[in-house]
Amino acid sequence: GSTIGILGGGQLGRMLAIEGARLGYRCVGFAPEGDNVAAPVCDDFFTNDWSDRPALAAFAAQCDAITLEFENVPLAVMDALPSDRLFPPRKALEVAQDRLAEKRFVADLGGRPAPHAAVDSRADLVAAMEQIGTPGILKTRGEGYDGKGQWRLRDMRDADGVGAISQPAIYEGFVTFEAEFSVILVRGQDGAIRFWDSSRNIHEDGILNASVLPAGEMVERQVEEARALSRQVADALRYVGVLTLEFFATKDGPVFNEMAPRVHNSGHWTIEGAATSQFANHMRAVAGLPLGVTDTIAPQLRMENLIGAEANTAHELLGEPDVHLHLYGKAKARDGRKMGHVTRITRA
Ligand code: ATP
Ligand code: MG
Ligand code: MG
Repeated sequence: GSTIGILGGGQLGRMLAIEGARLGYRCVGFAPEGDNVAAPVCDDFFTNDWSDRPALAAFAAQCDAITLEFENVPLAVMDALPSDRLFPPRKALEVAQDRLAEKRFVADLGGRPAPHAAVDSRADLVAAMEQIGTPGILKTRGEGYDGKGQWRLRDMRDADGVGAISQPAIYEGFVTFEAEFSVILVRGQDGAIRFWDSSRNIHEDGILNASVLPAGEMVERQVEEARALSRQVADALRYVGVLTLEFFATKDGPVFNEMAPRVHNSGHWTIEGAATSQFANHMRAVAGLPLGVTDTIAPQLRMENLIGAEANTAHELLGEPDVHLHLYGKAKARDGRKMGHVTRITRA
C-alpha cells in the first residue's frame, strides 16, 4: 500500500509523517480541532471529532495501514476501523488507557509495578494510603500525561487537600529510585523485535526534562530484565510498531511505571543518534517493511525538551556544533508545554 493514516495530530504525528514521506508514503492524519502540528506535514488531514463516523470512514477508505501517535484514541474509534490494517492493535490501547489495567497486565506477565490500589471514592483513598503508606501519588486511571491528573501526597493530612474523586483513580506508593529509564522497542508484522538503547530519563515536576545516554551502571544492569518483560508484553499484545515501557531503576531491580503504545519522547534522540530512528522504524513496521538497525551511533547523547518559553531562544543553540534542533510549530508556548527538543551528540 502507499497511504498511511495517523490518528492524532501532535508532534509525534508530525515526526512520523516526516519519516513516512521520506519512505515514499502519502500520510493522512485525523484528529479533532486543536493545535494539530502534524497537519502541515501530512498530505491530507481530517480535522473532525472522533465521533464523526462518516469522516472517519472517508479517512479509513484512503489508508492502506493506520497507526496512531496518541494513546487516548477512543476504543469505539478503534472498533470502527479495519482491524487487519490497524497497527498497533486495539488491545494495546485498551490496556494502556487505564493505569490499573496496564499494571495488572504487566504484573500477570511477571513484571513488578509500584504498590497500588484502585480509588473511586474518598474512603478508598484513605484506605489505600493507610494500607500502602505515604508518601504516594494519586493518579487518574485515564487521560493523564506530563504529570497532569496527579497529586503527590506526603502524609495522611494531604488527603484533605484532594477534592472530590470525580473519576476513577489509583493511589501508588512513592517508589524510591536511583534513576528512571525507558525500554523502547519496535515489533514488526513478523513478530521480530528490536530494542534501542535505554536512556536515563530525568523528569522535573512529572514532565520529561532530558534523556541521557549512556544511562549509567545502575540502569545498564537492569535493562536486560526490563527488556525481557517488555518483549513479553509486546508478544502478548501481538504488537506492531514502536512500544515504550517506563521503569524505575531501584536497588531491588526494575519497577514498571507505565507503558505508551507509541513512539515516545524519551526516544527523540534516536532521530540523529541511532542508525534507524523510532519514527522511521515505526513507519516501516506499520508498512510491513524490513526493520532497520537500532544501534546508537555515538558514545554520548543528550536530548533536552524545550518547554514553554525555552523554545523562544532555541535558534541560538544552533551556534554549537552537533546540536540538532526540532521545533514543533505549536502556536502558543503555554507553561509546561513541549514546544520542541534539542539533541546534543558527543562523537568521541
Ligand atoms: P508521561 O508524560 O510519561 O505519560 P504521565 O503523566 O503518564 O507521564 P507518570 O509517568 O505516571 O505520568 O509519572 C510522571 C513522573 O512522575 C514519572 O516519570 C516519575 O518521575 C514520577 N512518578 C510517577 N509515579 C511515581 C511513583 N509511584 N513513585 C515515584 N515517582 C513517580
Ligand atoms: Mg503516561
Ligand atoms: Mg510517564
